[in-house]
Amino acid sequence: MKIQSATFAKGIVNPHEMLKETLPQIVFIGRSNVGKSSLINLLTKQKGLARTSALPGRTKEINTFLINHKTLFVDLPGYGFARTNETERDTLYHRINEYLFGPNQRHAKVILIMDTYVGPTKDDLEMLQLLQESKKSVLVVLNKIDKIKKSTFRNHVQDIVEKLAHAPHILVSTKTKTGIRELESLL
Ligand code: GDP
Repeated sequence: MKIQSATFAKGIVNPHEMLKETLPQIVFIGRSNVGKSSLINLLTKQKGLARTSALPGRTKEINTFLINHKTLFVDLPGYGFARTNETERDTLYHRINEYLFGPNQRHAKVILIMDTYVGPTKDDLEMLQLLQESKKSVLVVLNKIDKIKKSTFRNHVQDIVEKLAHAPHILVSTKTKTGIRELESLL
């Protein structure tokens, strides 16, 4: 997909609202701090579109962006962060799960972003497994590859890929913009 225009559509608190959306949707999901906002901003060439934030988990709403007047990018709240209390966490998980796995959703693709430097966490792999089990078209974005030393790069990435259960993946750095155009063509 060549991204020619992107505007903020709306912030949605109740996932049931998403089920009323008739446009095709591409969903972005990832733990807080993996670079999800940076990635959306880079893809849409708009620095402030998705809010980057120093505080993990600040984005509690589902933000949607209208791309090329016909597709929605859906920015889901980060999962698996420690700073919120359990009740809030449960609500967030619930909200994410309802939208991702409930009936009648129209997402064409799920972009699951991981931090290559940290490697896939238990939460990341759990989410990947759930997505694969429910037969979603999932693409794993391995972000922050600029942080990996050249000397260990091959082994480091190989170890990660082995954990991805054959999910399609792409190596990306939003800092150096490596892999961004290739990712755009896969959307
Ligand atoms: P989000 O919480 O997933 O939306 O993550 P952000 O986009 O807010 O990014 C979290 C932090 O990671 C910020 O300090 C970014 O500058 C940094 N970051 C994002 N992508 C990259 C990357 O590719 N390389 C490096 N080195 N840092 C990155």
